[in-house]
Amino acid sequence: MVSNIDSWCQENLFARCSLLSLLLRLKACGWCGDCAPAAPLYRVELDAEQAWKLASLALADLIPGLTHIIQRVERSTPRCLLDLPGKQSQPFTYHRGAGRLAFVSCRYQGRAGDLLAVAHEFAHAVQLAAARSSPPAVAREVCAFLGEHALLSWLSRNDSSLYAVVECAWHQENAAYLGDDAQGLLDALNDDARCVNYRWNYPPARLVAHAFRDRSAAFLEDLFRWRGRGEFSFSAIIADLSPKEFPRLLPALPTQSDKLSAYRQIGAMVLLDIFACEQLANENILIRYTAVFDQMRQGSVFIAVTPFGNPIGYATWLRSDEGCLSISETSLPDRQEKLRSPFRKPQPEIAAALMAAQGGTMS
Ligand SMILES: [Zn+2]
Repeated sequence: MVSNIDSWCQENLFARCSLLSLLLRLKACGWCGDCAPAAPLYRVELDAEQAWKLASLALADLIPGLTHIIQRVERSTPRCLLDLPGKQSQPFTYHRGAGRLAFVSCRYQGRAGDLLAVAHEFAHAVQLAAARSSPPAVAREVCAFLGEHALLSWLSRNDSSLYAVVECAWHQENAAYLGDDAQGLLDALNDDARCVNYRWNYPPARLVAHAFRDRSAAFLEDLFRWRGRGEFSFSAIIADLSPKEFPRLLPALPTQSDKLSAYRQIGAMVLLDIFACEQLANENILIRYTAVFDQMRQGSVFIAVTPFGNPIGYATWLRSDEGCLSISETSLPDRQEKLRSPFRKPQPEIAAALMAAQGGTMS
């Protein structure tokens, strides 16, 4: 029976000190407590059943070994995805016992975040159908977050405009999972009297799922099939996690241009430097930003943003008297492609230089 933080740690195979250390590392990166949402709500052109099918397609693409289970869940899972008055707003997947498919409830309203919610609950239903034994709650949530990852990964390869808005919703949800939820778990680790709260499962599961995003399909299939407690040592996994590498979005730049715009843009570049490449802090700040400011005046700076204006990277370039193009870029982890793609049409030469040089010089 899980009733307090000690029994919750035992159930989830966490050494208490590893978990505390992880949360303190997370806090040092600016998470825990109140983290402002990254992007506004955004509507998508898919209905609930289309979202359900998309979740199925994406998860089968990520873990082909589970395809027959995934297709059975897609076809036969009893579900209510409608936005009905009085219905519980929190999505859930209800385990109806061995040999029966779970029941899924989600109040789908066509928001970008609802696509993630459907993918999350779909993965819960698949995990319940695939598991050989009953995993602890954090492991179940890792599988559900991998369902969200599967959706994002599929969209990034097949629908870049939908990917851009759903990814912003994913960042927005990190503000809850790694903000208030992480603070709640940290408080519980410092106060044994607190009653168990299901949301304690989310911060470690969110971080572990992100760390698992590059694991093989066979590894992920084993995770969903969960043959027994000893197979995955989450305590060892969280001891190695580096929250610094967990992606985050910077505050959005205003769309209108005013006399503060240049300050905001320089501020965005400073933050991108700090998040993308810490050793830039060793450079002389006056020299670095004098050069950047000169390039802003010459119009040879480009800041790439999400559809909601959050800066994700920037590039600067200089052309020598001989016509040589010297280019450099700074971007958040995994954002190089997002930084380069806006150049393709208007400035193919810059795009080619970015692709080829990756910070070097080409003529
Ligand atoms: Zn869940």
